[in-house]
Amino acid sequence: MTDVTQSTTVEEFEASAKAFLDANAPRKESEKKFVWGEGPDKVAVFEEKDRETELADVAKACDWRRKKYDAGFGWVTGPTEYGGAGLTAAHERAYLKLESQYEIPSQGPFTIGLGMVAPTILAHGSEVAKEAYLTKMYRADIVGCQLFSEPGAGSDLASLQTKAVRDGDEWIITGQKVWTTGAQYSDLGEIIARTDADMPKHKGLTGFIVDMHAPGVEVRPLRQMTGGASFNEVFFNEVRVRDDHRLGDVNNGWNVALTTLMNERAAIGAGGGGGGGINMYTRVIEMVRHLGLDTDPLVRNELANLLIHQKVAGYNNQRAMDKIKAGQLPGPEMSIAKLAGTLNSLRLCDFVSKVLGPKLIADSGEWGTYAWSALILGTPGGRIAGGSDEIMRNIVGERVLGLPKDLGIDSKSPFKDLKVGTQKD
Ligand SMILES: Cc1cc2nc3c(=O)[nH]c(=O)nc-3n(C[C@H](O)[C@H](O)[C@H](O)COP(=O)(O)OP(=O)(O)OC[C@H]3O[C@@H](n4cnc5c(N)ncnc54)[C@H](O)[C@@H]3O)c2cc1C
Repeated sequence: MTDVTQSTTVEEFEASAKAFLDANAPRKESEKKFVWGEGPDKVAVFEEKDRETELADVAKACDWRRKKYDAGFGWVTGPTEYGGAGLTAAHERAYLKLESQYEIPSQGPFTIGLGMVAPTILAHGSEVAKEAYLTKMYRADIVGCQLFSEPGAGSDLASLQTKAVRDGDEWIITGQKVWTTGAQYSDLGEIIARTDADMPKHKGLTGFIVDMHAPGVEVRPLRQMTGGASFNEVFFNEVRVRDDHRLGDVNNGWNVALTTLMNERAAIGAGGGGGGGINMYTRVIEMVRHLGLDTDPLVRNELANLLIHQKVAGYNNQRAMDKIKAGQLPGPEMSIAKLAGTLNSLRLCDFVSKVLGPKLIADSGEWGTYAWSALILGTPGGRIAGGSDEIMRNIVGERVLGLPKDLGIDSKSPFKDLKVGTQKD
């Protein structure tokens, strides 16, 4: 590994990063232009890929990450004792800004492993786990996934039922997880399991690192309405995990989960435009021109509305980023950012549906019409992942506006107050 830690100033670091990028990746031709009828027509939130293409893309992503790690740019802010470069957040921002100017394989397969799981291992893992996994994760020798949600526990995560029972120096895990993104190509997972059923539900949970290839782990794909299968059900049948793979103290799993979820919202809130590196809004404007609707005052009015909402969300994100730059932790801004992002996607979908009309659902071969259906079918997923719109509204209501606390849903008896068939009127 090149020793970039010798570069003390951000300027020196930038110079070595630029030399690495120039030698290893082509530069993007200035700002990518969107030309109607040319180039990629992908506007999907979840790209539909067959397994072979998906695995080939993951391999390309890993190759790039390995190269970058070996050159010293794979974990810029990470502690040197676990394989990081030990530099500052300013160094990392400088690298990411530079990297965005080059054509590199999509780094999507690492969103969960590096965006959420690795920071949790760093914060709560044993020395054995940190030494065994952090370098390997940042070098893409292994990929990680998040095993939280269950059929009966999503928004109300603390209701989860997968259990871990201690057996000497090991734990035996049994249960089922669901919606596990990327489990099909992951080597390691962060799991939260119930270790004490007699304690209050938030208290009897513990986090673990589990080997996704261990005996008793079964991954089954879930087909989405977009056609792809990005998520999975994961079954655990008496899977053994060593105690040094525990995250944090026994029965302190809720705090471990919160570390991961805070990182998840930050990652989703900061999400990009998608679709072959071209901003969705640029595509929408071009679509309106192509359909000859750019002089229609009603269409123009709605388009202006869309762009204003996008700008406002951008300013809120900027506020959160500035807080991070100033060394503060982002607070409920991340929930506002997540909510604003998904509501803007919904507005975009409504607009596209109205403007395209039946062209949206008829695969006529006309470029860039039917292709939008992938965006419309994928957008609802974003409104649920990482905390649904309703949950984000609860957080904003309680922590920003100071409204009374949400009473929550009793997952064991969600409709207990509904007296169906007994009302007289
Ligand atoms: C794209 C995507 C990727 C995902 N990836 C992962 C992953 O990698 N790992 C993982 O563990 N999970 C993952 N999930 C699961 C995700 O975290 C859950 O779907 C989410 O937390 C919602 O839980 P649920 O699906 O059980 O819905 P529920 O919690 O059952 O909610 C159903 C409906 O009730 C509403 N609701 C629930 N509680 C309240 C309340 N208190 N007040 C108001 N309304 C409420 C919700 O907003 C929703 O509309 C993913 C989900 C999606 C869509």
